[in-house]
Amino acid sequence: MTLVIDAGGTYLRAEIHRHDRVVKTLKEKSSAFGLASWIETIIKEHKDIKTICISYAGQVKNGVIISAPNIKVDIHEIKNYFKEKYDITLFIENDLNCAVLAESVYLEEDDVCAIYVGTGLGLGVVSSGRLITGFSGVATELGHIPYKKAPFICGCGKNNCIELFASGSALDKWKKHKNIDSKLTLEELKETSEFSEIYEEFEVALLYAISTAITLFNPKVVVLGGGVIESNPQLESIIASKIKEYAMPVALNGVKIIKTKLKNAPIVGALMLKGLR
Ligand SMILES: [Zn+2]
Repeated sequence: MTLVIDAGGTYLRAEIHRHDRVVKTLKEKSSAFGLASWIETIIKEHKDIKTICISYAGQVKNGVIISAPNIKVDIHEIKNYFKEKYDITLFIENDLNCAVLAESVYLEEDDVCAIYVGTGLGLGVVSSGRLITGFSGVATELGHIPYKKAPFICGCGKNNCIELFASGSALDKWKKHKNIDSKLTLEELKETSEFSEIYEEFEVALLYAISTAITLFNPKVVVLGGGVIESNPQLESIIASKIKEYAMPVALNGVKIIKTKLKNAPIVGALMLKGLR
């Protein structure tokens, strides 16, 4: 059996697969458990798990967790740990890298940017058919490009990341900072004149981020996903209509901006890691 995990900033979600069928799903708050100890509770109950595939909301290189702004890291050398202690083969890759691998295969395109707006703001890039990972596995960290100073510290340690303006956690932080009801949706913020500034900041920062990805990587397709996009489907057309005010025209020429059609691209991509190495 294969254990597939979507380790996100808010939830750890797992699926146990037997012969390509999901036989069990599990969910836990990311703040409640260290990832490795949560996996250990699962494999002790399901002793025939032989492979683990993880889509991880943090930086990873060659089976080693480098950092994770929103997840408790109990074991950094997680691949070696499960091999040596349990003889289980483990594959782990950044969640947006998993997502873009899945999107690139699904769309049959070699130049794809996957941009996810969820707890954080993430980007994965397949360029000329190759996943871009960088020297230490932290390339394409779009959410942490310098933008402007915010009154909060980002999970990466800086206070000027674009993710502090254009992400689900940023919206929560700004609502708290301005003493606004935390339940107000993005659309309600937009339509309420005294709060619309938060929406405007979010939209502009998101357009800066997406146009930066388009200008740098010249993709054929930009795939949007993540919780904030899913719960605000109007963002797709807003982005498509306004992006030309931001991105370099020759890089934008012919680019398709679409919402993901996959149910859970990071999980699909994590399963593909088995065939990659
Ligand atoms: Zn940051």
